[in-house]
Formats: sequence, C-alpha cells, structure tokens
Amino acid sequence: MTEPAANQAGPQTAAPPLPPLPKLLVGQKALVTGANSGIGKAVALALAEAGADVGVNYVVNPDEAEAVAKTARGFGVDARIYQADVSNEAEVEKMFASFVGDFGALDILVANAGLQSDASIATMTLAQWNKVLSVNLTGQFLCARAAIAQFRKQGDSRRVSRARGKIVCMSSVHQMIPWAGHVNYASSKGGIMLMMQSLAQECAPDRIRINSIGPGAIRTPINHDAWATQAAYDNLMKLIPYGRIGEPEDIGKVAAWLVSDYCDYIVGATLFVDGGMTLFPGFATNG
Ligand code: NAD
Repeated sequence: MTEPAANQAGPQTAAPPLPPLPKLLVGQKALVTGANSGIGKAVALALAEAGADVGVNYVVNPDEAEAVAKTARGFGVDARIYQADVSNEAEVEKMFASFVGDFGALDILVANAGLQSDASIATMTLAQWNKVLSVNLTGQFLCARAAIAQFRKQGDSRRVSRARGKIVCMSSVHQMIPWAGHVNYASSKGGIMLMMQSLAQECAPDRIRINSIGPGAIRTPINHDAWATQAAYDNLMKLIPYGRIGEPEDIGKVAAWLVSDYCDYIVGATLFVDGGMTLFPGFATNG
C-alpha cells in the first residue's frame, strides 16, 4: 500500500495537522469573534498556541465556547468567553469593555463571525439580505471601530508588539469571485475588502495594522453540503488546484502569523488562503 500524499484530504479524511506554532504572541491579548465553531475556533486556538491570551466570542452555544476556552488554556494562557451578537452595537461595546476589564488591554482583533443565507435573487427576501450584511459587514465595522478606539487609547503603553494593534478581517475568496445565488454573502465580503483597505489607510499612521484573510473552501459547518459526500467533494475539487479542501487550522495558523511581528510591514492586504481557488482554475486547460 502506498503512503498517502502529505496533503491528502477527502470527505472523511482531514489533511494531517500542521507543525506547531512558535510562541510569537506571548503577552498579547486577542479577541476572536464567532470563535466557538469552525475557522474562529481554529484561530482562537492558534493564537493561544502562539502564546496570546484569548477572548472567545459566541452568540449561541456557550458550551462550545467554553470548550474552546478550555482547550486554549491547555496552551498555558488565559482564555475567557464573551457572548455578543456582533451586529448589535450595544452588545459589541459591552463585550470590548468586559474584555479590557478582564485582560487590561487589547492587542489583536480577529473579526471572524459570519453566516450565509442563500437564495436566488427571485426568492431572496430583504430579511435575508439585511441579516447577512448586518452580521458579516456591519458586525466587522462595529468590532473594528471598538478595537481601534482601544488601540488608540493604549498608545505606546503596550510594548508587546511593534504595532499598536492588529486587526484581521475574515473575508472570503468571494470578495473577488462573484457568486450566483449568494448575492448577499458576496456583497458582504466585497464590502469587507474596501472597509478593510479604507480602515488600514486611515489607521496606518497610528501604527495599527489591518489586513484580511480570504479563505477558499474550508471544512466547517457553514459549507457542509459542499464537502460532506464524495460526489460533492469531487465537484468541489474542480475549483481547487491544490487538490484538497482547507482545514480550519490552515486559516488559524496563518492568522497567528499575520498578527505577529514577522508581518509588521503587511498593511491593508488580503491574503488568500485557498489552495489556488483564485487562480481561475477553469483556464488551466486553455479556458
Ligand atoms: P461557522 O458557521 O463554523 O462559524 C461561524 C461563526 O460565526 C459561528 O461561531 C457562529 O455562531 C458565529 N456567528 C454567526 N452570527 C453571529 C453573530 N451575530 N454574532 C456573533 N457570532 C456570530 O463557519 P466558518 O466557516 O468557520 O466561518 C467563519 C468565517 O469564515 C465567516 O466570516 C465566513 O464567511 C468565513 N469564510 C468561511 C469559508 C469556509 O469555507 N468555511 C470560506 C470563506 C470565508
């Protein structure tokens, strides 16, 4: 029997774990939204593995949030859970105040919370449009605004990183790839692109670094139907030159690196982490 390829993954087989992270973020305080599931959970655990204390935001399922915090504490850091609907201004403000009250400071925000509510344009309701825009785009605005205010308040007092604060916006390949049947989701991610760039431009003189990660297809509940069966997985592979679905850890470890001082000169960038999905794979055989 031949050994499986290093990046082998399939509907039932996750790719092997990535190498452990060095302690890039010791002493830093990080808040991750939507961190009791999927990508957010992996980001929170990667930041903890790299030495940061973490706040695990959730809106429902506190048990899952507590489980993430418990695993994070296994890396020797402090971790606490914070309930807030990121689309609710008062709840977001309260969450940031509680976080700073508990940890004394904020150094990193990963604005990750997001959802889909798919429909063709003939059937998409205004409620579906508003819900996705409120959580995915307005939620990131509210959290980024609160984080920036805190970073500015702290000024140069922190001394744990070259930047005075770092924000990662969880975008998507759909900030550049149009997506029929998902006009609300694609619009929210396109909005995140220019929100992130505009904020990065505005806040760079304060030495606040703001960037995005644009995941491709990552194995999480949000896109379960796209990978759960062999037929769906095989169909998905037509869009991914690297030949496997992404695992949440693929995004978590990149997020930890992106907020580290190795990336101190990365400002206003979107890093696509997508196995080549944005390479227009349909043109690989001459279009
Ligand atoms: P997921 O469903 O596993 O996680 C989404 C998280 O957001 C959950 O914890 C959920 O409770 C939380 N959330 C939803 N509404 C919220 C609200 N109002 N307030 C606070 N939290 C809320 O899905 P995921 O794949 O981990 O998605 C995380 C992010 O990654 C999203 O922004 C998504 O758009 C983005 N993304 C995912 C993929 C993918 O293939 N999985 C690809 C590109 C981008």
